[in-house]
Amino acid sequence: MKDLVIIGGGPAGLTAGIYGLRAGLDIVLLESIGVGGQVAQTDELENWPGEQLITGPDLVKKFEDHAVSFGLKIEFKEVSGITKNQGSITVHTDSGDIETRTVIVASGAKPRPLGAPGEKELSGKGVSYCATCDGFFYRGKEIAVIGGGDTAVKEAIYLSKVVSKVHLIHRRDSLRAEKALQDKLNEKDNVEFIWDTVCEEICGNDTDGVTHLRLKNIKNNQESQLDITGVFVFVGIRAITDFIECEKEWGFIKTNDLLETSIEGVFAAGDCRVSHLRQVATAVGDGALAASQAIEYINSDKGTPIPEREHS
Ligand code: NAP
Repeated sequence: MKDLVIIGGGPAGLTAGIYGLRAGLDIVLLESIGVGGQVAQTDELENWPGEQLITGPDLVKKFEDHAVSFGLKIEFKEVSGITKNQGSITVHTDSGDIETRTVIVASGAKPRPLGAPGEKELSGKGVSYCATCDGFFYRGKEIAVIGGGDTAVKEAIYLSKVVSKVHLIHRRDSLRAEKALQDKLNEKDNVEFIWDTVCEEICGNDTDGVTHLRLKNIKNNQESQLDITGVFVFVGIRAITDFIECEKEWGFIKTNDLLETSIEGVFAAGDCRVSHLRQVATAVGDGALAASQAIEYINSDKGTPIPEREHS
């Protein structure tokens, strides 16, 4: 039986691994595709203390190398469910079950679709959710970004360096993004704002991909057409928590201050839980706290004490 199964290899999960291993726990971290979570797809970060500027993939590589140097075992398995038993927890995966004393769910979140007609059909044919992955395909072309939060603004800044023009479409007349990001965006002379506007339809076909957007100004109901070949959708995130049945709010796992979920012995950390701020810094803090709580749980009379083991 494992002491701790960590589900998800983003900043929260990798930090939990580092803290748990230093306490001598027997841990496995499960990841479905690749480590890093959303940060691995982020162009640059300027708010990770100690690094004035670092790319998302570089930061994640540092986290991973650090955790692996302590002996963290990472297995690529898809988790399908979690069952609480008397004195243990079973984590069900696509390649067998794992028995464990505790679980930290750090499964993160993924981009939320806009829900506009044409979006699903043209996904990968001009509709994208990742500027660093797909921006290159639109070098020298005009594209649209939909959304007004940190992600939309950050990705619009990145895209402005690659494409000829960015049309930023936002449903209100002011951005939600933090001021430092807004200031940077405002410095770009190839970014045009389309305020108070929603995208009614993403139009195109299988051969040409996206050809234009049907837009509507929600203040005066005026409809318009924007000719572009690529549209990047950044309208928030959706928690990846379908595999766990516990108390949630809008799909995000509810926790208390100690990051306990409604299932005893199961903790949640990072973007997958209900929180006011979703940053690398908060995910790392969550990972550390969740691991310390898992250690405390195991050593309490609720869990089975950790056996004497050589510290790796
Ligand atoms: P977000 O903060 O929830 O912003 C989503 C944006 O999309 C909002 O501007 C929202 O408009 C708009 N929106 C939502 N539904 C829409 C719809 N159906 N049609 C049109 N527009 C829609 O999401 P996020 O930007 O992905 O950020 C998620 C979290 O990650 C946040 O906590 C954020 O701070 C954090 N993050 C931080 C950084 C950083 O570098 N500091 C970078 C990326 C993300 P309204 O404003 O009108 O609601």
